[in-house]
Amino acid sequence: MGNLFCDDKVKSFFEILQRPVGSQEELAECTKQAFACIAEKMHIGKVTSKLSAPRTTLRASIENMVHILYQGEGAVSEEPTVLEFKTGDGGDAAFQFFPIEGYVWDADELREIRIIGNQIYVVFSQSIMSGLLRHAMLMDLAVDIPNVSGFMEFAGRLFAQGRLQQYHGIYLNIHNFKYVNKVLPHMQGDEVMKLYANALVGATAEGEMVARLGGDNYVVLVRGENAASFIEFVRDINIRYRHEGKERQFNFGATIGAAELKDLQNPADLMMRISIAYQVARQNGGGVVYYCDEIYKEVMQQKEIIARFEHAFSAQEFIVYYQPKITTADRQICGAEALVRWNKNGQIVAPVEFISVLEKEGSICKLDFYVLDKVCAMLQKCKRENMPMTQISVNFSKRHVGNPELVKEIIAVIDKYDVPHEYLEVELTESEDFKDSVVMSKVISDLKAADIKTSIDDFGTGYSSLNMLKETKIDLLKIDKSLLPLEKEYEDKERDIIMFENITRLAKDLGIKTVAEGVETEQQYEYLTGAGCDMIQGYYFDKPLPEEEFLQRMSIGHY
Ligand code: C2E
Ligand code: CA
Ligand code: CA
Repeated sequence: MGNLFCDDKVKSFFEILQRPVGSQEELAECTKQAFACIAEKMHIGKVTSKLSAPRTTLRASIENMVHILYQGEGAVSEEPTVLEFKTGDGGDAAFQFFPIEGYVWDADELREIRIIGNQIYVVFSQSIMSGLLRHAMLMDLAVDIPNVSGFMEFAGRLFAQGRLQQYHGIYLNIHNFKYVNKVLPHMQGDEVMKLYANALVGATAEGEMVARLGGDNYVVLVRGENAASFIEFVRDINIRYRHEGKERQFNFGATIGAAELKDLQNPADLMMRISIAYQVARQNGGGVVYYCDEIYKEVMQQKEIIARFEHAFSAQEFIVYYQPKITTADRQICGAEALVRWNKNGQIVAPVEFISVLEKEGSICKLDFYVLDKVCAMLQKCKRENMPMTQISVNFSKRHVGNPELVKEIIAVIDKYDVPHEYLEVELTESEDFKDSVVMSKVISDLKAADIKTSIDDFGTGYSSLNMLKETKIDLLKIDKSLLPLEKEYEDKERDIIMFENITRLAKDLGIKTVAEGVETEQQYEYLTGAGCDMIQGYYFDKPLPEEEFLQRMSIGHY
């Protein structure tokens, strides 16, 4: 046996087997070369391996594989020496060594064959383990398609070949997959997910890839010419799921972010593009959004706002301005609307720049309460210092609808400052969602019961409807400037006048006061007075003013 390790050929055998290999193919080639070094000396004619390992979650593809590791030129004996091993996970590995035809190994030679066999086994175990690990690393084992690492590896390879630019990237989120988990047990839900993944894979062509990001999110690379039809397919996927003779059908839509990659400079930008497009699609409430530079800028600005919000909030960078409301009859200040501003590094930023972002993200609720707090503090100061007080309205976003404690929390703030409730008004906008409008009606009646005034904001835009006037005991209607008839002569002017004056009359008959917003000119003021509008808010009298300036106006009290 001492001879064995002194021999150069045997040394080469061990050296070759110790080379690092990147794939099963490389390993096979390596083994072949290694055996070629010693075959003649050791009279080896052929070597095969047989692996049978139990199927595990980690293992998808190496059951019962028989491989020829080495085959010489000549004929071989029909009686191999078999070496058997147990694998770490309870499977079997067997190596068959065939001597060349007519040769029989003696006891010493068999010992050497066993050493060789052991070495082969060690190398194979390592390779299988790393193969399994690689598989586990790159695959989503629940649905048996690549995961995000597998996806990025594939994209990286395409990029290196200069081909990624011919593809479109797609990020999709399945609509209502939650429903499946509601109606089916968890395990069956997983099977439906697998069917869905299979459907996606079935809709792609050779050389394209579907990967699962986790949950109900997938990323896909399809060639540019196939992108439109793939997206069309994804918008409505029908899955039939059979279990114990029962069939169920599920229809899945998806929210989709997509991106062309023609000008892609860096494969990492692929994920950035599709996730930004997806984010915008989600904000739009679904559908498909393709990435472009404007979307990028918009999303980055949104991100910046969200990222800075918490700090700005605690640093008291948000300040409250007040825009007076004036009675048409005698030009008295009869109230004011609190409007928030962001003092960002000494620059006053208007709410159009950030309100809609905070609304989408949810922080608006915190900000609305902050404004209410500042308003109450201001009213408390007026009360304590015997300054004239007036009703202040505070905007409350639709996002509060989900808060069952809303009214209680509003009352708590007002009471903290010991301000009489009738000095406060809550401005609400209508919601397109019927369920939300039911909640809103309840909020309005609860506020009314607590002696807090309510108004419908932006009446005449969006979803405002007459229903709200009928169903609720709203105190004020804020008529949006878009409903105001224009001063110049135009074709439908007469109709606009009829609309406007009837809305005002209807409100009056229902005991609801009207405020016209965005009044800028003398003519508008004259017209509104004639049309029976109760109050006016607009640049004609004043812009929103900082607190100090507003309090000075209040001390005068009229225009
Ligand atoms: P809004 O509630 O309809 O507020 C009226 C907006 O019209 C204000 O813009 C005001 O400055 C502007 N405005 C007043 N008079 C005139 C006029 O004569 N001409 C023109 N062109 N505009 C006039 P602002 O302050 O920029 O606020 C914009 C929107 O931001 C508000 O519209 C409101 O929806 C939202 N917002 C402001 N503050 C808050 C807040 O504290 N909470 C919530 N949820 N939203 C707020
Ligand atoms: Ca408002
Ligand atoms: Ca408004």
